[in-house]
Amino acid sequence: MANLRFEVVAEAYKKKPLEVITPVERPSEFFGKYVFNRAKMYKYLPADVYEKLIDVIDNGTRLDRNIADAVAMGMKKWANENGVTHYTHWFQPLTEGTAEKHDAFVEPDGKGGMIEEFSGKLLVQQEPDASSFPSGGIRNTFEARGYSAWDPTSPVFIIDDTLCIPTIFISYTGESLDYKAPLLRSLQAVNSSAAAVAQYFDPQVKKVTCNLGWEQEYFLVDESLYFARPDLMLTGRTLMGHDSAKNQQMDDHYFGTIPERVQAFMKDLEIQALELGIPCKTRHNEVAPNQFELAPIFEETNLAVDHNMLLMSLMKKVARKHSFRVLLHEKPFAGVNGSGKHNNWSLSTDTGVLLHAPGKTQEENLRFVVFIVETLMGVYRHNGLLKASIMSATNAHRLGGNEAPPAIISSFLGKQLSSLLEHIEKADKEELFSMAGKKGIELDIARIPQLLIDNTDRNRTSPFAFTGNRFEFRAVGSEANCSSALIVLNTAVAEALVDFKARVDALISQGEEPTHAIIDILREDIRTCKPIQFEGNGYSEEWMEEAQRRGLDCETSCPLVFDRYLDEASVQMFESQNVMQRNELEARNEVKWETYTKKVQIEARVLGDICMNHIIPVATHYQSRLAKNVQSMFDIFPREKATSLTSRNVKIIEEIAERTQFIETEVEELVNARKVANRIENERDKAIAYHDTIAPKLETIRYQVDKLELLVADELWTLPKYRELLFIR
Ligand code: ADP
Ligand code: MG
Repeated sequence: MANLRFEVVAEAYKKKPLEVITPVERPSEFFGKYVFNRAKMYKYLPADVYEKLIDVIDNGTRLDRNIADAVAMGMKKWANENGVTHYTHWFQPLTEGTAEKHDAFVEPDGKGGMIEEFSGKLLVQQEPDASSFPSGGIRNTFEARGYSAWDPTSPVFIIDDTLCIPTIFISYTGESLDYKAPLLRSLQAVNSSAAAVAQYFDPQVKKVTCNLGWEQEYFLVDESLYFARPDLMLTGRTLMGHDSAKNQQMDDHYFGTIPERVQAFMKDLEIQALELGIPCKTRHNEVAPNQFELAPIFEETNLAVDHNMLLMSLMKKVARKHSFRVLLHEKPFAGVNGSGKHNNWSLSTDTGVLLHAPGKTQEENLRFVVFIVETLMGVYRHNGLLKASIMSATNAHRLGGNEAPPAIISSFLGKQLSSLLEHIEKADKEELFSMAGKKGIELDIARIPQLLIDNTDRNRTSPFAFTGNRFEFRAVGSEANCSSALIVLNTAVAEALVDFKARVDALISQGEEPTHAIIDILREDIRTCKPIQFEGNGYSEEWMEEAQRRGLDCETSCPLVFDRYLDEASVQMFESQNVMQRNELEARNEVKWETYTKKVQIEARVLGDICMNHIIPVATHYQSRLAKNVQSMFDIFPREKATSLTSRNVKIIEEIAERTQFIETEVEELVNARKVANRIENERDKAIAYHDTIAPKLETIRYQVDKLELLVADELWTLPKYRELLFIR
């Protein structure tokens, strides 16, 4: 009997790169081809409608109904010219992906025929049957309907024959059921709080924008091999698999030559992404074999998040075309690096950047320091919550590994910046004030210019590192919607800025000179948030102990980490910044716990099945073969000689017996543990049970399976091995 594994491996290795036809235009010409961007708005909308829509987008003014009708008409015209027949509200429910429900443009014309219809009403609002999206009970308690509402700040785009309209998704009673609604509110919170603080330094500032540049890591696996691994297909990761003799130890994959089949995939992906207005910039191999990265140029956060969501679904589609599967799971393979999604985060004003030094003037330099310190204040106060924002059943496998940020949030500033903060903190106050002459503040600020030039001491182990003109939040998982992390980060920073301003204003109202008041509060905050600053090796044992001493959140159990969302300080933060209310937070946590449970549950089921249907039968088959051999040796040779000649095989027979027995017992216990956990009603308790009693068993079973993989004859092993999955020819 032929082994299916050999067939699929042979098939995978025979595949040739797909030929990708490059558009005749240059990227600058086809960029945004399928996006209803400003240029197209200008072309397809009447001048007054265009002006009003731009005002809605740039200044957040209300969209009135007459405009909506005119905009819809222009969109429809553009869409029709591109062969579009359907439209959909495209939204981001509390799952990892995006959701869409397609409706055709056609409506009955009342005379037995059809006409193409698209009105402002259909553009602005839809009522998708929301009952199958997670809501954490909000909908059940109130009303089953959900609404999607157009977000004009993110442009409409075309995929295949469908016009996609980015929307928020809310319940009948107005609670958010998605990532976008609270993200937009958090951006508003940053905008108003940061603009108010920026006005101390420059009264002209009207608006503060939050930027995001994400770096998407992913794995590619050949499709034939993927189909032969039920664990990959059903859980997105391998639940078993012995290390490949060669994996990443030679460091030869990072920035190495990209295999041709992968090159073709990347090229195809980039063309399609550029056509959708995603400003792809960088592509390269990552550290692990078969691991790659794509990064665009940073954009305004809301748009950048949409683009990341779009890119992730585009990747899946394009990968299939090239007979690959893309793995976005944070840890698809044990023993090699997992995938993250660094979130490069910065603020800019309508008059310039905020997290950039050196500034042109002394005021700008002080402003820079204020924004750095208040960002740290937000991160410090809510470090546990920030961790909760990036935590998931899948990302938990990556955090704390010696490759990814640890499960403790801290911030790396680099030598220059941290010594500057230290100087401001420790310098004699009068001396600092006296330097703050009429022109503003000097602050020994000659130090700042070196800041950027010397910013080469990048600490790769830090989850939240300052990298010259931005912070890089590295703990975000590859599969995650970036919004989850950014909602918390933005809201925490907004709260810190509001608080900062209140204290500064209090001093000013007592008659203190504004610059002095700012410096006073700044010094206080530098001292307060010191525990979040860590310049050392985040992977080290000592740091775990040190972090505990500093009072940073060190919890690693995923369901318990989610508790941070419901801490009074967190609820207070979200409510005061008008980002989310308590009941929304409670509902979201229900979803988080439930999702956690389901993920582990599916993994446990799949592992149980594979053990019973693949591993044990294959191991026993090999065992019988060895047993037959032993038997025949005794037929051929005298007893003593046969005993000695068969001793190795007998040992293997015994080992297989012991290991399969262990697996059988453990799988049975796994089933029982699940039964117990499934009876728990409370979602939090159930998730804790899954974390404590089921997840660890997956590891102990895997250990035995991996040992068997080493023992059993290669020709009998049915599941593609790591060495096959991890190297694309
Ligand atoms: P790395 O060396 O960490 O891989 P890159 O130079 O490739 O970093 O940039 C990573 C991302 O950071 C890109 O998306 C880039 O556009 C983004 N980025 C650069 N400057 C900023 C900034 N000021 N704010 C936000 N993102 C930024
Ligand atoms: Mg980076």
